[in-house]
Amino acid sequence: MALRKIRTYGDDILKKSARPVVKFDKTLHHLLDDMWETLKEYDGLGMAAPQIGMLRRIIVIELDDDNYELINPEIVEATGDEIKIEACLSVPNKQGDVKRPTFIRVAAVDRHGEPYELETDDDMLTTAICHEIDHLDGILFLDKAVKISDRPPDEDMKKGRERRRKGKKPRTKITRSGKKVI
Ligand SMILES: [Zn+2]
Repeated sequence: MALRKIRTYGDDILKKSARPVVKFDKTLHHLLDDMWETLKEYDGLGMAAPQIGMLRRIIVIELDDDNYELINPEIVEATGDEIKIEACLSVPNKQGDVKRPTFIRVAAVDRHGEPYELETDDDMLTTAICHEIDHLDGILFLDKAVKISDRPPDEDMKKGRERRRKGKKPRTKITRSGKKVI
């Protein structure tokens, strides 16, 4: 595994559309492992491959100690809307208020190319998935935010996530071939 450099705001690669993954081989698995290592090193919630300079439709998210890998994700259903605060490893020191759905159903494949569906009305997971899918289309939260402000120190953001981890059960369901997995 290797730590990758996070591309930040102003880097043209963040404005480009990523291509679907077609090969589910060792190269993909190494890339995924590097994304996890980099995500953990930067203490992030989620990351899309373009953020480390790879124009591939790959997302990793860690929330409440659950790890989600979404490859070639597509939002197939989205309902509700709510303004939520979000931040991004590629936009240090800023956060934004962005309108996001309150429920989503996403079709994706795993690292072996097996299709699955994830549905959630968990506010953080919904926001994270929408935010990361935007990265795959060259969109940053800055492009959508109704308000942009300075980001609180990382320590405060971490505390917020820990509070949530203690207080809340995830409301997420994953199905494969119509069968519930979690
Ligand atoms: Zn981001």
